[in-house]
Amino acid sequence: MHKLILRPGRERSLKRRHPWIFSGAVGRVDGEPGRGDTVEVRSSGGEFLAVAAYSPSSQIRARVWDWKERAIDAGFFRERILRASKLRSALLESGMTDAVRLVHGESDGLPGVTADRYRDIVVLQLTSAGAERWRAEITDALLQASGAATVWDRSDTEVRALEGMEPRTGLLHGAPLPETLILHEHDLSFRVEIERGHKTGFYLDQRDNRLRLRAMASGCEVLDCFCYSGGFALNALAGGARAVTAVDSSGAALELARANAESNRLPAAEWVEGDVFQVLRRFRDQGRVFDRVVLDPPKFAPTGAQAERAARAYKDINLLAFKLLRPGGALMTFSCSGGISADLFQKIVAGAALDAGVDARIADWLHAAADHPVTLNFPEGEYLKGLLCRVAQ
Ligand code: SAH
Repeated sequence: MHKLILRPGRERSLKRRHPWIFSGAVGRVDGEPGRGDTVEVRSSGGEFLAVAAYSPSSQIRARVWDWKERAIDAGFFRERILRASKLRSALLESGMTDAVRLVHGESDGLPGVTADRYRDIVVLQLTSAGAERWRAEITDALLQASGAATVWDRSDTEVRALEGMEPRTGLLHGAPLPETLILHEHDLSFRVEIERGHKTGFYLDQRDNRLRLRAMASGCEVLDCFCYSGGFALNALAGGARAVTAVDSSGAALELARANAESNRLPAAEWVEGDVFQVLRRFRDQGRVFDRVVLDPPKFAPTGAQAERAARAYKDINLLAFKLLRPGGALMTFSCSGGISADLFQKIVAGAALDAGVDARIADWLHAAADHPVTLNFPEGEYLKGLLCRVAQ
């Protein structure tokens, strides 16, 4: 097998079972591994450390498949995907939802593999050379573990470019996608756009937080910023909100959200197409106020390099949101930026409250739902950080 030999002393993070090997840690490569090939990783002293997938174009030069010497083959993917699938079976059986994240990358021991299940369709997203190399085996394993009929490829995220890979989408197995796909979450139905929608079609990670908003929406005026297909807005309506305003810059997303609200026979809401940064300013100038505000923006800082600019953007919208809250109101604010740590996010939100002149306390930390697990050795898996803040009466 091809070998990747680390520089002296660079085995430390691997010994703590962090699954990424950065290019700077690599001393030399024995053999000529191709993109996505399996390599054996050894310390400079020759000690075996892991088997990993080789990514020649990426700063993350290899990602660990396993910590013991073993073959990486179809059986490996069957084993890992079955394990991941079993972890989600209770959630599917609970009746809370018929859509779950089946595989969450590194946290399920499968770097670069994301798979979301919508009823009998699995949407796959492969973001590393190693994952791409095993696409056929991963597809078979997903079909076998889930009993789903169709696997659809949505590997069109920008991060693939870092691995030297082109975007790819299309049918991998089974029947063509249905015209409309409906998922159910907390007794609400949502239309999912698998081919054109964001991510794999729906933001499954916010499932628990949407229910949380529903539980505190009764009689309230709610503002849902970055609403996409209406996940939070619909739950606010279902929870008896007095009025709901939802903002997104995408007209297509708003159309989807409005259609979702209608098909659930929910009361009318105000759907606003626009840039949240500007809409919040306009609302402030108009003197509008709300009891609940949700801020669920897209990734402002995919990596640490963009953290500073992103921090300013987070501060801006959080400051405006605090200003729009009535006394006693609550802000549910999120960051899904890998480049912003939980600690930094809390500091940004604290700074925003200070500058807005409000006295706020943390009522809770919010996280991605349990089908997006975080393993202790891979804290980067916790990309979604949220704070529920209560403003003083
Ligand atoms: N809260 C949603 C997910 C939000 S995803 C849910 O529960 O499903 C982020 C959304 O922000 C996308 O729909 C995108 O169209 C929108 N968006 C991105 N930048 C924006 C901006 N500057 N102003 C308004 N919306 C924006």
